[in-house]
Amino acid sequence: MIVQLDDVNVTYQAPDGEIAALRGMSFGISDGEFVSIVGPSGCGKSTLLSVIAGVESTSQGSVYVDGDTVTAPSNKIGYMPQKDQLFPWRTIWGNVTLGLELQHQNTPERQEHVRELLKRYGLAEFIHKTPSQLSGGMRQRCALIRTLATDPKILLLDEPFSALDYQTRLSVSADIYAIIRQEHKTALLVTHDISESISLSDRIIVLSKRPAAVKAIHSLEDLMEIPPMQRRDHPAFQKYFNPIWKELDVNV
Ligand code: ADP
Repeated sequence: MIVQLDDVNVTYQAPDGEIAALRGMSFGISDGEFVSIVGPSGCGKSTLLSVIAGVESTSQGSVYVDGDTVTAPSNKIGYMPQKDQLFPWRTIWGNVTLGLELQHQNTPERQEHVRELLKRYGLAEFIHKTPSQLSGGMRQRCALIRTLATDPKILLLDEPFSALDYQTRLSVSADIYAIIRQEHKTALLVTHDISESISLSDRIIVLSKRPAAVKAIHSLEDLMEIPPMQRRDHPAFQKYFNPIWKELDVNV
């Protein structure tokens, strides 16, 4: 398992008392797997990504990434936030190489890798433009390339498509899926969209309401070899959708 959580609890100290965010959370993710996390709003999904990223510590239990206990952020993990968070005053090149600069890895070899990614994913001719000159979908691809530039093994994606309109969201999520597969990364995607999770993942972990615990895990055996867009029309789609829909009912 490239990511492993063993009985993880997270409790925040808030001014008016304690807030339990994660409770008895245990699961593993295999190398190369694409796993989605779905759960009710405010249940603890971002907290879960934060403990895996090493930016939030556990109150109990352990998190392992690539065999090591997580105690601090590591360059094995790449994080892609909800908004692309590209700097408007930097060019596309300036943005995609930002992580390399921050990690003091801005070497000719790394820059060549980034140039290769930009070419492969249709952004090479835009490197001198600024983010406002790009479409929402291109910006999202740019944000992913920035994340891939430092060559992390694991990508944590926190609702990365939520700012996009529906049509763009479908095509960009398919693009991002293809890039992640081609680059042989492990991905953990947080989303509140069940259809999106079914169209992109190998497995879906359903969380309970706060404090989040694992409510169910679904392995999408019938869809794994099928690209995202085709999954939505596949007969097995509904078979996975209905139980997850019921599990997410906060009244149950
Ligand atoms: P989700 O991503 O599922 O919407 P979060 O992980 O962001 O949920 O939050 C889970 C709960 O923990 C929420 O009630 C939120 O208000 C609380 N929370 C998150 N971060 C902090 C923090 N740093 N301090 C106190 N409470 C927090």
